[in-house]
Amino acid sequence: MSLSFAAPDDLTWSPDDAIAALHADPKFGVAFTDHMAEAIWTADGGWHDDAVAPYGPLDVNPASAVLHYAQEIFEGLKAYRHADGSVWLFRPDCNAERFANSARRLALPVLPEEDFVTSCLQIAETEARWVPDAGKNGEKSLYLRPFMIAYEDFLGVAPAKRVLYSVICSPVGPYFSGGVSAVRIWLERHNSRTAPGGTGAAKCGGNYAASLLAQEEAYAKGCSQVLFADAVEHAWVEELGGMNIFAVTKDKEIVTPVLTGTILPGVTRRSILGMAPDLGLTPVERRLGVDELLDGIRSGEFPEVFACGTAAVVTPIGSLVDESGETTVKEQAGEVTMAIRNRLLDIQYGRVEDTHGWLRRVC
Ligand SMILES: *Cc1c(COP(=O)(O)O)cnc(C)c1O
Repeated sequence: MSLSFAAPDDLTWSPDDAIAALHADPKFGVAFTDHMAEAIWTADGGWHDDAVAPYGPLDVNPASAVLHYAQEIFEGLKAYRHADGSVWLFRPDCNAERFANSARRLALPVLPEEDFVTSCLQIAETEARWVPDAGKNGEKSLYLRPFMIAYEDFLGVAPAKRVLYSVICSPVGPYFSGGVSAVRIWLERHNSRTAPGGTGAAKCGGNYAASLLAQEEAYAKGCSQVLFADAVEHAWVEELGGMNIFAVTKDKEIVTPVLTGTILPGVTRRSILGMAPDLGLTPVERRLGVDELLDGIRSGEFPEVFACGTAAVVTPIGSLVDESGETTVKEQAGEVTMAIRNRLLDIQYGRVEDTHGWLRRVC
């Protein structure tokens, strides 16, 4: 039987002016809404206790398995308000599919994809007043963070027999507070975020934990993100800590590393590949060498490089930095990068026709 994540009748919300104040300049992932969706899974009883409930701390025992063995997965998607006031999700079915794949890799129970979508629709509808207007630069939204954790008080190493699923929500503005400017990226060849046979294709907290040291070192070198090379040869471009990467060729191809199991299959990546022909661009998925990328930037073969993900949408990469120095792509955002970025935002905010059928109406 499918889950309903039904909201009780007696919910209360923050005063409208308090919500409006938070909507004025929302920072990424700082403030949370009044409610959350949740469900419990047990080995004996399957999924149950699904509901929308007031937002608040979880009851986590210090022996809870997730705290020790990181059996955890998550997702990230946004609810967008269109000019007519309606609220929409962007391809929640893709997040549902990926969440199921992540669950399998982490030996967590699979939440049926339709139940995942229901949970997102329900919480987004409950929290509709928390979905901001797009705003002047058209980038405000309500970020949804579904996650699943091992929720069993047991220190033995085994897949948990009790699991918690929840969706929390946070009003967000542009991910990089400075607006759309080109970022410096540290090209990391030593620390790896994942390796063949590992969890790179799953969206799990452990991948992020593994990426933080390189991220810290990148900050110290004046870079804002890390581009990881493959863990075996350190010769192939993979992705950033939380974003996929594209290189634009002078012949209007957009090249992104092919999914090999060590790269997270981004919904934004998939959508950009899907809409490329609409913009007269040729989508290409193939292995991309680190040296090929650097040489191609210098020779003009790759006039633009950008990163993409739900949180930061499309972010132009201004330069790549490594031990041997800085390779500059462009000081500002390139034309193709901006065309893709604007097209994606136009679809998400309902400013152009959704020809691919990617939007799902909440209310
Ligand atoms: C979430 C994530 C992305 C981007 O995926 P989207 O579905 O586009 O948001 C890319 N890389 C990693 C490692 C991620 O965790």
